[in-house]
Amino acid sequence: MRKSKNRGHEYVLIAAMLVIIFGCFAAAMTTAISNDAGNKTSVGAVSTFDLDITNEYSLVETDGKNGIRYYVITKNETNSTTAAAWPDGSEAEVTAVAATTQTTPFPSITAPPTTTQPPRTEQNDNRRVAYLTFDDGPSENTEKILDILDEYGVKATFFVIYHKNMESRYREIVARGHTIALHSYTHNYRKVYSSEAAYFDDLEKIHDYVYDVTGVDSNIVRFPGGSSNTVSNKYCKDIMKTLKKDVVARGYVYHDWNVDSTDASGNNIAPEILLDNVKARLTKNRKSNILMHDTGEMKQTTVQALPSIIEYIRSQGYEMERITEDSKVITHG
Ligand code: ZN
Repeated sequence: MRKSKNRGHEYVLIAAMLVIIFGCFAAAMTTAISNDAGNKTSVGAVSTFDLDITNEYSLVETDGKNGIRYYVITKNETNSTTAAAWPDGSEAEVTAVAATTQTTPFPSITAPPTTTQPPRTEQNDNRRVAYLTFDDGPSENTEKILDILDEYGVKATFFVIYHKNMESRYREIVARGHTIALHSYTHNYRKVYSSEAAYFDDLEKIHDYVYDVTGVDSNIVRFPGGSSNTVSNKYCKDIMKTLKKDVVARGYVYHDWNVDSTDASGNNIAPEILLDNVKARLTKNRKSNILMHDTGEMKQTTVQALPSIIEYIRSQGYEMERITEDSKVITHG
């Protein structure tokens, strides 16, 4: 059953929203014009790049083979070639990307019963709880991650984005008792953060996609780049201030993280480094939300490090739970 979002606060916010939407519209137009200059086939290969953790320059498409991800900006007239650039404006590799195909509808499935979570008040007790979270999936790694979680009897949370032809992986996450939560449909900062309307259009799209594919009506959200990201200012100044309030007013709950594995700081960061980062940050928090990524070949070391990360967390007396509506909400403030 689909929830109706609480829209009671919307009227109160209309004036502020109008100012922001129009302000952002102007910024978006400027951006679009400069991008359109390279509209047709502008290219230049990019093999690796450095990611800024806070800005989380994750990209939108994968080719499924090489794990290369693209920040898609424009498509040409035939819709077969895509011009792309990294968020800093440097050109990225351009490869044929098939036009989005219509998703075959699947029968909805219901998540199996899982361990009942304690009520929210108990989440503020002294129990040590760790929430393993995987962003940007599903990917070729999803099955491996699920197998490891099963092996250790651990439930986790997957903040997913849209990937074509991966319907079975979305359903598998749910079927194996994990939380499927909403990250973004496109994960394209330039689009998502161009205006408040654009953000919610994208969020509703991934909500509806997850609902259609898995039957799960999720209201658990993680903003692309986190709620404290600064890259969004490039597309619409101060939009996060408004989005943080309005996403809650619309009935969603957003979660950031307080333990960064740093697996998005580059490609295939050594597993020992990922483990060390978890070790360094975990014990500062009785409730820990651990950021990792489920993004194919570039994050294979996340899979390699996962058993040792789980073992370490367990050795420190933490229970690992999936995020539910009753879970402790960890945000960047
Ligand atoms: Zn992401």
